[in-house]
Amino acid sequence: MKAFDITKLVRENILALKPYSSARDEFSGCEGVFLDANENPFGTLNRYPDPHQKALKAAVSRIKKIPAENIFLGNGSDEVIDLIYRVFAESGRDKVIICPPTYGMYEVSAHINDVEIITVNLSSDFQLDIDEILKYWAKCVFVCSPNNPTGNRLERIHELLEHFEGIVVVDEAYIDFCPETSLLPEIERHPNLIVMQTFSKAWALAGVRVGMAFAQKTTIDLLSKTKPPYNISALNQQAALSAIENVADFEKRRKLILEQRAVLEKELKEIACVKKIYPSDANFLLVEVSDADAVYQKLVNHKVITRNRNSQIKNCIRITVGSPEENNTLLCAMKKLEI
Ligand SMILES: *Cc1c(COP(=O)(O)O)cnc(C)c1O
Repeated sequence: MKAFDITKLVRENILALKPYSSARDEFSGCEGVFLDANENPFGTLNRYPDPHQKALKAAVSRIKKIPAENIFLGNGSDEVIDLIYRVFAESGRDKVIICPPTYGMYEVSAHINDVEIITVNLSSDFQLDIDEILKYWAKCVFVCSPNNPTGNRLERIHELLEHFEGIVVVDEAYIDFCPETSLLPEIERHPNLIVMQTFSKAWALAGVRVGMAFAQKTTIDLLSKTKPPYNISALNQQAALSAIENVADFEKRRKLILEQRAVLEKELKEIACVKKIYPSDANFLLVEVSDADAVYQKLVNHKVITRNRNSQIKNCIRITVGSPEENNTLLCAMKKLEI
């Protein structure tokens, strides 16, 4: 592979940045009388959390089989996306590539950071248009696999890793529903790869806000020095750690969701207004109906809320796989629709 030096893509101010040094950076022992951080001596959540999230990173390292130095933890994937922009994309000057239909935050975060967007749509079968992407120079390209809202995996990411000259960010928010296809093992070989994952989906911790990024150490260090010092609260670190310690629960729920996805798919096929169900490797189904706006609104009237994606993909709604009871409620409501 050609030589790739990620520091050449970093904004100059970030490269030169001397990060904030917290009290816990300057003394990291755990025994003693701590009078260094202006904390309140009373209470149970009175102390600042570990800014480096060592315990949680060690646990993530164990389950993902990747060294802790290759792990970054963010306050949700949204913070990770924002930090990628802040580290690499110069306001008013740099460009990024996004491949719709996909997750909306790549674009919103680009606007917030005043970074220009190059749009290279997915093909009609929702795969990457590699030739078109490679025509452009951009600081990074965001791809999502399995993709939201289409549910499919993207097949040709390896070609981007080999030939794209910027950073390839692969958002694997749904990877726990098809773990064998993760690009995590590629981190070692590809200095231009950042893989994002999250505790919000298969780990059932959307309320907790912990997102992960995996990359070579140079990249992780750049994200780390740019983040707010205490970006993951003590409560949130503990919640994510407990989930990892109860990995059997995680496996049980994952299996149930995958079973329910198959049930939902089979039952939806029998419903008159359903035209097509796209294959899914995630915990949701993209469903084409005869009239998405009408189906969406009528389901709302039955107190069943789906995601209307009509503006992105004509007449499609995205349905999350719920509990068996929730899925039944959806199916009953859909059978009653006169559309
Ligand atoms: C749900 C989702 C996330 C998760 O975001 P968090 O901020 O970690 O909750 C990330 N990317 C995609 C594509 C998603 O659908």
